[in-house]
Amino acid sequence: MKIAFAEPPIEPIPFLSKDGVTVNMLRLDSIHPIVSGNKWYKLQHYIEEALFAKKKIITYGGVWSNHLIATAAACQYFDVPVTGIIKGSPPRKLTATLTQVKRMGMNVIFTNTDAVPTGNEFIQVPMGGHGIQGALGAATIYKYGCTDYTHIICAVGSGTTMAGLINAAHAGQVIVGISALKNCFSLEQEIEALLTNTVTKKEVLHDYHFGGFARHTPQLIEFMNDFYKTTSIPLDIVYTGKMMYAVYDLITKKYFPTGSRILTIHSGGLQGNQSLDKGMLLF
Ligand SMILES: *Cc1c(COP(=O)(O)O)cnc(C)c1O
Repeated sequence: MKIAFAEPPIEPIPFLSKDGVTVNMLRLDSIHPIVSGNKWYKLQHYIEEALFAKKKIITYGGVWSNHLIATAAACQYFDVPVTGIIKGSPPRKLTATLTQVKRMGMNVIFTNTDAVPTGNEFIQVPMGGHGIQGALGAATIYKYGCTDYTHIICAVGSGTTMAGLINAAHAGQVIVGISALKNCFSLEQEIEALLTNTVTKKEVLHDYHFGGFARHTPQLIEFMNDFYKTTSIPLDIVYTGKMMYAVYDLITKKYFPTGSRILTIHSGGLQGNQSLDKGMLLF
């Protein structure tokens, strides 16, 4: 398939590069203004399949879902009809995310049942692009210069992106996932189920959830604002803000051996920030 979007650059993060380690960031957020980040990579095989078989895509998400908006934008770009299923009753006022996906042509359906629309005309994309196909797509992120690093750090939701990176990585690397969920200790197993590479070292850290999925604290917001002031890079409250706080904290705690070359993955997806009151973030 033709490469639709810009190649993501790697940028140094000088203010975290101290105490014997260097920190860089792969800017997956820069590939496209809406189809930003890891979601595109997880989607690409599904989109290819839909184009090839002339099928429609059906997928699932929440009202501030990065996955839903990335799917809507990618399907608009490639002219693939798409339905988005949202659990629950229609809200009195649509969120900014839902307004935008509808504008991009997604057929949005609210449902209180667990019944999944089926039919031959649909390709089912699991919530968040989770699964083997998603991990295969996510593994392609590795080609943007990931081989030169001792540690690759990513945010973890379903773990699909982390699994893809582990599968692509070489044996000398360590892949560290920062969980965005509170006490979700089944993640290790879920990631394991997607692995084809059992050589590369990996670790999921569970101490940086800041209260739980999509929860945030003043400390996190302050860190994200400080990070933006020094780097001009926007982070999000759900995933990358927590991941970069973790990197900062882990460096202070000497988690990384001296000489470590750390690559952080900016997985994009700033939808969650729209749920904040105006003015809380500088960007
Ligand atoms: C969805 C998302 C993740 C989590 O990816 P998984 O593959 O589900 O672990 C990480 N970062 C951002 C910005 C996301 O939108």
